[in-house]
Amino acid sequence: MSDRDRDYIGFGSLPLQYHRKSVKRGFEFTLMVVGESGLGKSTLINSLFLTDLYKNRIVPPVDERIEKTTRIEKKTLDIEEKSVRLRLNVIDTPGFGDAINGDESWRVVVDYIDEQFRQYFMDESGLNRKNIVDNRVHCCLYAVPPWGHSLRQMDIDVLRRLHKKVNLVIVITKADTLTTNEVKRLKANILRDIEANGIQLYKFPECDSDEDDDFKKQDEELKQSVPFAVIGSNTIFDIGGKKIRGRQYPWGIVDVENTTHSDFIKLRTMLIATHMQDLCDTTQDVHYENFRAQCISQIQHNAKTGKVRSDSIKTPTGEIVIPVVTETDKLLLQKEEEIRRMQEMLAQMQEKLKQQTIDV
Ligand code: GDP
Repeated sequence: MSDRDRDYIGFGSLPLQYHRKSVKRGFEFTLMVVGESGLGKSTLINSLFLTDLYKNRIVPPVDERIEKTTRIEKKTLDIEEKSVRLRLNVIDTPGFGDAINGDESWRVVVDYIDEQFRQYFMDESGLNRKNIVDNRVHCCLYAVPPWGHSLRQMDIDVLRRLHKKVNLVIVITKADTLTTNEVKRLKANILRDIEANGIQLYKFPECDSDEDDDFKKQDEELKQSVPFAVIGSNTIFDIGGKKIRGRQYPWGIVDVENTTHSDFIKLRTMLIATHMQDLCDTTQDVHYENFRAQCISQIQHNAKTGKVRSDSIKTPTGEIVIPVVTETDKLLLQKEEEIRRMQEMLAQMQEKLKQQTIDV
């Protein structure tokens, strides 16, 4: 041991220990894509993760789609990069907005998000807390078509129902069909509607003041690009020995990754390289906490009023049904009572100690 090492007790290696443990355990991320059929969602996901997740999908003909209800389709992809393992779940919602009864579409999406929270809540209150599989939705990409002037009433209705449950990121798809000025105008109109309707999109955290200038610049550019206007493609071209993912037009090839053509790279950087952890943290600290607090207060209310338990209860908005977790109710209440008693004891002990110090 060198003299220099003697000056340290060793907690400087904590980040390293944490890093090793996290790498060993791997990471989990769940991304949901919402929007009508044909907007380019599957192509975008394939482009984002450099894989063909939807090659076997059969698109039903239009007359069948009108009858269709929204389904939930989950695909899991295990990716490894530089020995870091990521389990990526992609939740797609084929049939969303296709049915005549559009009202049903948002319900399926909201129910799915709630169900993952409920499952996590049950697992967390159960005995096997160590091996909980986290299926909560960490981010929702909401696809807006490029051909409108702004958000449609239907988009506003869906976004309003989602924004307090999940990190919302709006993407304008097929941005290659718009000119630069049209993109600018559409983005401004969407942001105006978002604000006017009190919708909360995923908020990028403030950059720390000690971050380097390049990072700050990149962060600012990301924030300025919202909502992201993106292009997707499943075709790879070989241009002078360089492979690019692009779309071919009579006048040339649009490179999906070219930042002057679209925000695709910014979206990918944000989702994967820079903000994945923050999306998970916000899901845990904000959205799941909201759900948990609602559950606990309803359980307490039921326990106090001695209400006969039903399988489900309504939230104050009357929109969402949160199933009551009857087996865990008692346990939770007991724990809370124990904590309250311990806090009381602690306060008494502190008071005694204070008194003794004054006497001395
Ligand atoms: P989904 O139903 O929303 O998953 O849409 P798909 O990804 O299946 O795409 C529907 C159609 O749009 C396909 O013909 C795609 O080739 C096309 N498409 C996908 N992305 C883009 C894009 O960025 N620009 C253009 N012009 N077409 C696209």
